[in-house]
Amino acid sequence: MNTTVIVGSSVAGARAARSLRSEGYSGRVRLVGEETAYPYDKPPLSKTYLAGTADDTQLTLLTPEQARAEEIELSLGRRACGVDLASGEVELDDGSRLGFDQLVVATGARPRRPPWPTPPGVHVLRSLADAEALRADLAEASRLVVIGAGVIGAEIAATARRAGREVTLIDPLPGPMHRVVGARVAERVAELHRRHGVRTLFGTGVEGIGGTRGGLQVRLDDGRALAADTVLVGIGAEVNDGWLATSGLRLDDGVLCDQYCRSVSAPHVFAAGDVARWFHPGVGGHVRTEHWTNAVMQAACVAHNIAHPEDLRGYGPTPYVWSDQFDWHICVVGETSVEPAETVEGPPGADGTRFAALYCSADRTLTGAVVVNWPRALMRCRVAVEQRQSIEELRIDLTDELSRRPAGARGTSMAVR
Ligand SMILES: Cc1cc2nc3c(=O)[nH]c(=O)nc-3n(C[C@H](O)[C@H](O)[C@H](O)COP(=O)(O)OP(=O)(O)OC[C@H]3O[C@@H](n4cnc5c(N)ncnc54)[C@H](O)[C@@H]3O)c2cc1C
Repeated sequence: MNTTVIVGSSVAGARAARSLRSEGYSGRVRLVGEETAYPYDKPPLSKTYLAGTADDTQLTLLTPEQARAEEIELSLGRRACGVDLASGEVELDDGSRLGFDQLVVATGARPRRPPWPTPPGVHVLRSLADAEALRADLAEASRLVVIGAGVIGAEIAATARRAGREVTLIDPLPGPMHRVVGARVAERVAELHRRHGVRTLFGTGVEGIGGTRGGLQVRLDDGRALAADTVLVGIGAEVNDGWLATSGLRLDDGVLCDQYCRSVSAPHVFAAGDVARWFHPGVGGHVRTEHWTNAVMQAACVAHNIAHPEDLRGYGPTPYVWSDQFDWHICVVGETSVEPAETVEGPPGADGTRFAALYCSADRTLTGAVVVNWPRALMRCRVAVEQRQSIEELRIDLTDELSRRPAGARGTSMAVR
């Protein structure tokens, strides 16, 4: 029987397995994961799970009953160590080998480790086990220092502050999510954190951490030291492609793939999620992203291409990522790493601030948007980015949107900056 082996049992792997069935694939589906937990979702780990408002049953991506019903064979707690392309086998850490006709690599990424020693009480956050350890330490802590103000660091700072902890957020860059949204929006996010009582130290680096759990000292590059009970290090991720080093598959900070998400070295090997670096037809080059929506959509594309090799689909999504910090639901669509050309302020609703920062190319074509607490504007921005509308066209759309706001909404005017 035709067999597809999927390595990596998180969102990309679990979605690829389930999508194979919904695409009508009738061969064997074998899902391998080094974690012993049933496939679970990661975005809540820094939000509701850390806050204690969601438990692990609310993270589930695939239950034992679903796996049985969909004939997905699971090998959990098993690490893949290598691939033999000649024999078509994946080697596992217990010495067993799984034969495949198609292989899907979905091994994602791991947290970048800090360059200094990390005493007890210093955490990273990627897995459920990491989240449980951080949650347990935070329950005993009053002072948290977060090193790194990317999406995950900023979310953890917000969650811990909301839970009443004294929080300091440190980053050498000028503000949270700076690499994703540029300096101006990052400054607004920094202001949000300060307003809620987070102490922010931007433009500041860390030289080391001393002490131990409950009595840590974070040494800063300006000579100061901060006392902390618990420290979270969120300084980015590294791709999990090392296990493929001797496989003969071409790697380039991820598995290098064509536009159909097939390895450029072996067309029966596919990659999906954070580990895939694929040729994006819209960008005209290879890209790799670390976003949940990409993992889901790419897994569906891979499943389609395995189930229907006669109808290969290229994969060229518009990037989309969201983040929840305090009362802001921040959505990022398209390319937003430069500075926004304009910001459209919406009328503040019950959920506080609303705005859309618009990013464009030199010819005023919209390339991306950051939208806060404004779902209808987000829908319009997504369409506008996908259709490469001009920023002027979108502004007319948003003005129209504002004029239709529900009766009783507060605020009377829109400001464009
Ligand atoms: C705390 C947190 C919050 C996040 N919040 C958001 C958010 O708000 N919005 C958003 O868009 N994205 C968010 N993300 C990112 C999103 O969760 C990731 O993009 C997504 O998890 C990627 O899925 P993946 O399946 O490709 O990889 P991963 O989730 O990294 O999973 C890979 C799996 O493969 C396993 N594995 C690795 N190597 C091997 C091996 N050799 N053998 C067997 N198994 C192996 C790993 O243990 C892991 O289970 C967040 C991530 C984290 C960690």
